[in-house]
Amino acid sequence: MDQKMIETIHRLPKVELHRHLEGCISAELLLEIARDYNVKLPSHDLNELRSLIQVQGQTSSLKEFLEKFYWVGMAFPTLEAVERVSYCVCRDCARDNIRALELRFSPVFMSLETPHSWDDLLHAVLKGARQAEKEFDIDVGFIIGISRSNGIKPALRVVDIAASYAGLGVVGIDLFGDEAAFPPELFTTAFKVAQENGLNITVHAGEGGGETNIKIAIEELGAQRIGHGIRISNDEDMMAWVRDKKIPLEICLTSNVQTQTVPDLQSHPVRKFYDYGIKISLNTDDPAISNITFSNELLLAMETFDFTLDEIKGLMLGALDQSFLEDYRKDLLRPKLEQELKAITSKESRKAGE
Ligand SMILES: [Zn+2]
Repeated sequence: MDQKMIETIHRLPKVELHRHLEGCISAELLLEIARDYNVKLPSHDLNELRSLIQVQGQTSSLKEFLEKFYWVGMAFPTLEAVERVSYCVCRDCARDNIRALELRFSPVFMSLETPHSWDDLLHAVLKGARQAEKEFDIDVGFIIGISRSNGIKPALRVVDIAASYAGLGVVGIDLFGDEAAFPPELFTTAFKVAQENGLNITVHAGEGGGETNIKIAIEELGAQRIGHGIRISNDEDMMAWVRDKKIPLEICLTSNVQTQTVPDLQSHPVRKFYDYGIKISLNTDDPAISNITFSNELLLAMETFDFTLDEIKGLMLGALDQSFLEDYRKDLLRPKLEQELKAITSKESRKAGE
């Protein structure tokens, strides 16, 4: 990829919908928190810490990928640290020119090492993000995650806290974690309550489990978007069904390779989905764990699957339409984004014609 295109993609105003806050905590940030809050880590050497929390090559499964999160759980020793992590993550997204961001997190996970009241925790996360929004050109909405492995009781509590922050920065809920061991139907009750409360819903499905999970997520859990959804590529009828239902898939290329959701990058069905007319967005999932940036993932899509600059631009606007951000925020953002995207292309074509 030529340097000019790398710069263009970095500069491009972007929209990202599928990114876990916990998966954005770099070894550098974890070390800073450990130093300032006296947290004991297995190593205080940056490179050693990196090898503990970053995936090197592929993992054997989604479960092994998720085990990389163990030490990341030490990044939330106090509410002040929670606020700081949230701020730093949003700031780093803004530096990659992400203008609209949906960031998801699990209050259960963030309270594992230090038990925080969830109310205080959400308050701190939102405060950090609001500070970043003040300083940078970024809009952030939060999705509260239900961890499959915690079972149904915490799931109902997660829905409750998400509902109480709806309209205050929380835009939806998600189901994530070990899909093979915990299929979506175990959580139908919690998602019914979420639907009754008008929460937007996205569900990780068809990543570590089969295509049936995608159908259940949509029909029983009320998913308006699907995290990954890769398994529908096995089944033409399912592809047609998802396309006709206009359910967008949140695609995360590198993550899917690292969790062995696809055997290798070339086998990824992203282009097949796109050409088939399925709504998609491109995303990073867990950029610090995967050692990637959003800009790099877009370049990867262009390099490997021949997405053109115009197609990438269209995907950014599509992601804004698919976003759970409040309509008034999307309405303010859309014309700005359209104008900036248009300017970047014309500048590039002028340069090319010089
Ligand atoms: Zn995810």
